[in-house]
Amino acid sequence: SAKERGGNTFCLYSLTEEAGAVRSMKLENGLRTSIENEQLHLVYQPIIHLQTKRVVGLEALLRWEHAELGSISPAEFIPVAEKNGMIIPIGKWVLETACRQLKEWHSELPDLCIAVNVSTRQIYEENFADTVKKTLDDSGVAASKLTLEITESLMQNHNFSNRIFKRFKEIGVNLSIDDFGTGYSSLSVLSSLQIDRLKIDQSFIQQMLEHEKTGSIVKTIIDMGNNLDLELIAEGIETQEQEEALRECGCQYGQGYHISKPFPPEEMFRFLSVRSK
Ligand code: C2E
Ligand code: MG
Ligand code: MG
Ligand code: MG
Repeated sequence: SAKERGGNTFCLYSLTEEAGAVRSMKLENGLRTSIENEQLHLVYQPIIHLQTKRVVGLEALLRWEHAELGSISPAEFIPVAEKNGMIIPIGKWVLETACRQLKEWHSELPDLCIAVNVSTRQIYEENFADTVKKTLDDSGVAASKLTLEITESLMQNHNFSNRIFKRFKEIGVNLSIDDFGTGYSSLSVLSSLQIDRLKIDQSFIQQMLEHEKTGSIVKTIIDMGNNLDLELIAEGIETQEQEEALRECGCQYGQGYHISKPFPPEEMFRFLSVRSK
């Protein structure tokens, strides 16, 4: 036991554990007031058409600036928000903010589309589809300009996802499966659900040229997507070589640090203005 290993070990261990518990409590509580304290903001990362290099859309990514802890990664706080339920108001804030921003950009860039990440917990809310519809109506953004990025875990409940996806189709929004290849979706699900896009997970893209089998998986996903009439987006492109290989394999769209990092709205607008000339 820790005691047998000596008091110091025990002490250090419990201190670390305590620090962890204190941090998660600060995150938990901080999230509850993050909206009213204006600590949330969105950054935007371009998605380009790999052949023409045109920017076709932006993905909105959430950022949280905690008063004391500084900036916290969504990878850390989204799971906390999913647990304590704050993902519902926060997710609504993300959707509204992204749509309002897009509407503003539309006066200069009328074709621009936006993709918003949606957690499974939000989708399971009774009236989530109505929230989406209302947000679009209030902001004046056309449904065809909005993509909801969802994860494969949703596919496990086939009946439920079928029903909700039908509602999304009625509204007219696009659906994308995020981090494709890391989850549970079976091929039959892909053919029966009304999905528009697959985002190939960045772990595959980053290994595709180093690891032969990973390269084959990427090619297989691209061929499958093309055969099923799904649009393919490669995530996490970090090098020119990856971008070229993906283009040659027939992947239509790409996103990643090699193309652009995510930026706050003003910087992103400048990036887009330069690119569209
Ligand atoms: P995601 O939706 O798969 O987003 C892609 C993540 O990869 C983003 O991290 C992005 O900054 C990062 N990324 C983009 N290009 C590259 C690259 O070339 N290399 C590497 N290494 N990374 C790249 P971020 O912003 O930290 O977000 C992490 C995850 O948090 C997202 O993964 C998404 O699942 C979740 N998330 C972010 N914003 C929201 C939100 O508004 N709502 C929900 N529910 N989840 C969100
Ligand atoms: Mg995403
Ligand atoms: Mg992803
Ligand atoms: Mg992810």
